[in-house]
Amino acid sequence: MVNLVRFCVSDRRVNSSTTRTLIAVARVIKHYHFSTNQNLKSPDQCAAVHGAARNIVAVFWDLDNKPPRSVSPFDAAVRLKKAAESFGVVRYKIAYANQHSFDYVPPEIRVHRRDRKTLNQLENKGVVKPLDPYICRVCGRKFYTNEKLINHFKQIHEREHKKRVSQIESARGSQRVKLVGKYSMNMEKYNNAARDILTPKVGYGLGDDLKRAGYWVSVVSNKPQAADVALRNHMVDMMDRRQMECLILVSDDSDFVEVLKEARLRCLKTVVVGDNNDGALKRVSDAAFSWQEIITGKAKKEAVSVVGRWKDRFILKRLEWTYNYERERKLYGSCSEDDDQNDDLGVSNLISDEVKTDQSRAWWKLESDSDVAASS
Ligand SMILES: [Zn+2]
Repeated sequence: MVNLVRFCVSDRRVNSSTTRTLIAVARVIKHYHFSTNQNLKSPDQCAAVHGAARNIVAVFWDLDNKPPRSVSPFDAAVRLKKAAESFGVVRYKIAYANQHSFDYVPPEIRVHRRDRKTLNQLENKGVVKPLDPYICRVCGRKFYTNEKLINHFKQIHEREHKKRVSQIESARGSQRVKLVGKYSMNMEKYNNAARDILTPKVGYGLGDDLKRAGYWVSVVSNKPQAADVALRNHMVDMMDRRQMECLILVSDDSDFVEVLKEARLRCLKTVVVGDNNDGALKRVSDAAFSWQEIITGKAKKEAVSVVGRWKDRFILKRLEWTYNYERERKLYGSCSEDDDQNDDLGVSNLISDEVKTDQSRAWWKLESDSDVAASS
């Protein structure tokens, strides 16, 4: 109980008046009902899961179902991560998709690429002249056609980059560390520039962008439901190992309903990101957001109230009376015929003082009942 009060006091985000009321309620319960020490010895499973400051968040992203559309994959991944961080410590960011999703190029990007190609041709013929020259972001040289810039980039900077990478790869130990340090600035400059200049060979860099944003990306076979199954197994596996307290699922696929229900049974907090407003997933989760809310940052703001609600729930859970066979037997079973036996086992030592005084009579017996029994 002391821990609980300390927990309440230390957390300023919980509404202070609610907290005060809860503390008062907690004190009353401690005083008049049962010994809370015993309660702490056998906390229920939920309290154990939600307890302490540990609140590890795992993000599971069903890329087949919810690929990033309105913004670039990197941007979407970073914003999702930021939103997830407002629910706790994000330790796992996992994305699953089949090969089709990685090869897929959204229509807008395809149109953009086609326009760029036409523009390049016009520039080469001298029909169109860009207002501002194209600047190489690695060395700063200026070019009047985009194609010249790309050629320059490939011939000079891409070559240099490959050399650096192979040097690092062939080096060992301290030599390798030295090289990484020496080249890190150049490599970063190159990577940033290359992203805009070089077109990825397949797809639009979905996998690479997600990895760059710190996600663990897995490609599964193109069989239908393969990604769903893999994602579900991964979630259950992590639940079994108790590696997370909060599960964030990015999907609209109702196949995940059972997994979310399972997560709730195991007292995990659940958040769903999807656009299906009356979706089955949102009905079984603690909180739900649309992609738009993640992108605009609205989810991050709303997360504060969701977390507050979880904390209140946690406090109430600790105050809730739960039936514990062992405890009840120790408290109330001793007035029956196996009284002596219990004394022999030293069980009576465990009984709190408040209960001891009332031991002569079972709690459900009225005073008049025992009086009647005594007189007869
Ligand atoms: Zn250059």
